[in-house]
Amino acid sequence: MQIKQIRLVKMANFCYLIGDKDSKTCALIDPAFETDRILATADELGYAVTHIINTHGHSDHTAGNDAIKAATGAKLLIHAEDARRLGKVLHSTFSRVLGGKGSPRADVLLQNDDVIPIGAVRLRVLHTPGHTAGGICLYSAGHLFTGDTLFVGAVGRTDLPGGSMKQLVSSIHDKIYTLPGDTVVWPGHDYGATPSSTVRREKGTNPFTR
Ligand SMILES: [Zn+2]
Ligand SMILES: [Zn+2]
Repeated sequence: MQIKQIRLVKMANFCYLIGDKDSKTCALIDPAFETDRILATADELGYAVTHIINTHGHSDHTAGNDAIKAATGAKLLIHAEDARRLGKVLHSTFSRVLGGKGSPRADVLLQNDDVIPIGAVRLRVLHTPGHTAGGICLYSAGHLFTGDTLFVGAVGRTDLPGGSMKQLVSSIHDKIYTLPGDTVVWPGHDYGATPSSTVRREKGTNPFTR
């Protein structure tokens, strides 16, 4: 499995390319902005994009769905609880401020524990509500992609529709802090002192989850 963290300038979002080295296919997690640069990166590394996975329905994670899907024909996957947000993107002020475009409908609605095959790579869906009702993390072999559920030294905001701090903290304790301590945490934004962390470090030092 190859992991490429791509930092997007707007909103300091992180997009991730998860590649299967044998089949040369990849998934893009939250390819929201700078879609030309993201596609060029996949191209340089020799990957065909087969899956677009949104960790949740906010437009700073979904705004690139249309462009990436049009360019690659990749399938779009999002948790069922956040899928309805995709159609609302155009009408949201938050989205317009971000320059977000409407998203195509999802091809696959995800549930907790679903497994997404990217060639021989397996990404397991962990439903972690709290930032949004349908927020997910994606787990594969020692790596966890946490979207806006868990950041390095912080957690996602819970004051937007569907948010709940109590639920978010429970999700992190039940679904993330039960993973092996050396699991690498790859967040959805570059908000921390470092661009990635580990489950052990967040469990021991993150002030929001003590
Ligand atoms: Zn968000
Ligand atoms: Zn975000």
